Amino acid sequence: MKYRRLGKAGIKVSEIGLGSWLTYGGSVENSNAEAIVDRAYELGINFFDTANAYYNGAAEEVVGKALSKYPRHSYVLATKVFFPMGEGPNDNGLSRKHIMEQCDASLKRLGVDYIDMYQCHRYDPETPLEETLRALDDLVSQGKILYAGVSEWSAVQLNDAVRLSQKYNLDQIASNQPLYNMFHRDIEKEIIPLSEQEGIGQVVFSPLAQGALTGKYKPGAPLPEGSRATDPKSNMWMEYVLREEQLQKVEKLKVIAERNEISVAQLALAWILRLDNISSCIVGASRPDQVNENVKASGVELSVEDLQEIEDILA
Ligand code: NDP
Repeated sequence: MKYRRLGKAGIKVSEIGLGSWLTYGGSVENSNAEAIVDRAYELGINFFDTANAYYNGAAEEVVGKALSKYPRHSYVLATKVFFPMGEGPNDNGLSRKHIMEQCDASLKRLGVDYIDMYQCHRYDPETPLEETLRALDDLVSQGKILYAGVSEWSAVQLNDAVRLSQKYNLDQIASNQPLYNMFHRDIEKEIIPLSEQEGIGQVVFSPLAQGALTGKYKPGAPLPEGSRATDPKSNMWMEYVLREEQLQKVEKLKVIAERNEISVAQLALAWILRLDNISSCIVGASRPDQVNENVKASGVELSVEDLQEIEDILA
């Protein structure tokens, strides 16, 4: 496993990370979730991502428990705040009150003394950005979090955050967690150039397009049994990636993968890691053997010709 710095921050994360959305604390049995975390750790994954809102805190509990047998210094734990954790008017968003209360709640659920990367899950247009940044800065000063991050913020919002942090000498946003894969490339235009300039590292989510970029969904064929696409509680965000047109592209990518003696999943992850500004691909897994396959993408170098052929397929 190779490790990359998180933008200009000193911390290093594994090129392949492990996420916990739609899996741990819910659709995946706890014992299986623990086995997947164990496999990831054994194979050199040091970066684990979760969120307070995943199964209403249950994902944090499962990930925290699974990691508790390992030395705290040996892994980088990331979680998030923003989405509702209750019915009350202050139970969501990025107000100082919600951030402070949820950080304490996450520490408790995770069973740790500090969170390595604390991320604003979305932008909150109702809270002054300065209030949010000051709350995060205070958490860093208190030692409850080491780095602050954001997720799915626009380039304008990210830029505003950078400027405000500089103006008031607050801790700078270290990471951004956007959607990025072969089918969703929006961040290439503005987010990546801005992040390169400001030293913000990308930790990208759904790098396998929720499984569509593994090659297991075939055009015109029945959905594979036990896959996310067959679970009515989890498949509502898969419509676009499972379109015939997208799956035909995956069939063409298979030829490049075979030529390189790697799987389509490994090709899709190695393609993401071609960009220096990407610090880690946060991959989900419902079985330990998926982790075995995915970690092997770390270190795969694609040739200029391969990258051009991929561009032509995705165009
Ligand atoms: P992926 O694109 O990596 O999809 C993961 C799913 O694909 C797995 O659960 C599994 O599903 C399938 N899969 C993974 N590897 C393989 C393989 N080698 N062969 C076959 N199938 C495979 O990412 P996710 O969409 O799960 O997102 C990853 C993480 O990103 C989340 O867990 C979360 O931590 C984060 N995230 C953050 C968001 C945000 O707003 N910040 C939003 C979404 C995710 P199955 O076996 O069930 O088919």
